[in-house]
Amino acid sequence: MIGCQGYRYPGGLTPCRHIGYFKTMSLQAKKSFAAVDYEKCDPKACSPEKGDCASAVACTRKVIKQIDGRFEQPVIFQDMCMACWDCIEACPLNSVRAVHMV
Ligand code: SF4
Ligand code: SF4
Repeated sequence: MIGCQGYRYPGGLTPCRHIGYFKTMSLQAKKSFAAVDYEKCDPKACSPEKGDCASAVACTRKVIKQIDGRFEQPVIFQDMCMACWDCIEACPLNSVRAVHMV
């Protein structure tokens, strides 16, 4: 399963496993963005002592965040993603990938 903001539903609502549904801009205008693979992402494995997401730390724009706190999987606010891929390079478990919409 890929990141929780990866799909746009009718009415501008985007599903998110953390906070339910929220309004968002159309991802049709966003050609590329980062997405978390929640099957692979494991904060307890990549940062066993602190539980910090290295990808969230690497994102200077604060687009990827552990909104549920340490030791929880991060969420990417893909509408704001600048497609710099710093988060992809930072993830030791290769749990973040680039999505290119056509
Ligand atoms: S995205 Fe990568 S660095 Fe961040 S918590 Fe998941 S496995 Fe760790
Ligand atoms: S691609 Fe860049 S802007 Fe987007 S979430 Fe990753 S680090 Fe942040």
